Amino acid sequence: MEHILKGAPVAAAIKARTKEQADALAARGIFPTLAVLEVGERADNAAYLRGIQKNAGSCGIEVRHVTLPEDASQNEAEAVLQSLNADASVHGILLLRPLPKQIDEAALCGMIAPEKDADCATDLSLAGVFAGKKLGFAPCTAQAVVEILKFYGAELAGARCAVVGRSLVVGRPLAMLLLNENATVTLCHSKTKDLPAATRGADIVVAALGKAKALGGEHFGENQILIDVGIHRTEEGTLCGDVDFAAAEPKAAAITPVPGGVGAVTTAVLLSHVAQAAGKNK
Ligand code: NAP
Repeated sequence: MEHILKGAPVAAAIKARTKEQADALAARGIFPTLAVLEVGERADNAAYLRGIQKNAGSCGIEVRHVTLPEDASQNEAEAVLQSLNADASVHGILLLRPLPKQIDEAALCGMIAPEKDADCATDLSLAGVFAGKKLGFAPCTAQAVVEILKFYGAELAGARCAVVGRSLVVGRPLAMLLLNENATVTLCHSKTKDLPAATRGADIVVAALGKAKALGGEHFGENQILIDVGIHRTEEGTLCGDVDFAAAEPKAAAITPVPGGVGAVTTAVLLSHVAQAAGKNK
């Protein structure tokens, strides 16, 4: 296995598969389209959106960006979402979060048509991940972690995996995806006693705790595979992850960089979901 697990080759492989699917659909007059709904404008969302737009064209996915003003009401947001649900030319919907505080995020997420739920925003999609059933799509970031591990040939069956972070967006569904691959998963969180012991005892550690460079040398043993989901802007204006890369990298068998690791793959997974959604029952 490579020592630095770059996201780019994984993303390229996923995008090549997506382009094949999109081209086949286009030949039948179906143009896979992702609608991205944003309420208000946030710098981090703008960067994510730019990444989606940059990659979408090269794999045959169209992107429709719908923005509502920061002070849009719940009714206005719901009306736009309903129209995207009803629009047959839209195959995937991504709701950029967080939303302004006047918007009931759970209610809005719950309204996305399940078949168009490209990033697992609805309870039905999430239930599918937990039940191991293909009810919808898995959360893109959680799936991106599994895609990276598989691409680089990590043995998941029987592997001891420590996932640090139990959010419904990343950690918890990722634990289920790894379990579906027959890994033995320890799901760690802020109340975990002796986190370093839990992470040191694992073959694979996934850091998704949302704290810059929080996992350092004491958290890692020798020859582990380390996947860093975190992404933070430092005071110097650079990006870093939840893992202290300088401390962890020398001990690790393999490690994802930040930037250039999980984030790059997340966008490719999202676009692949749109092509799959467009191809369903067509
Ligand atoms: P989140 O909702 O804030 O959840 C953080 C989780 O980490 C919680 O379960 C929390 O435990 C746990 N945690 C916090 N401090 C901890 C500590 N000191 N020790 C152990 N566990 C701790 O974060 P998220 O949305 O899952 O995101 C996690 C990270 O991934 C963030 O850095 C985010 O920016 C990044 N992210 C990256 C991508 C990508 O594509 N690369 C996409 C999404 C998110 P409790 O449950 O006990 O509070």
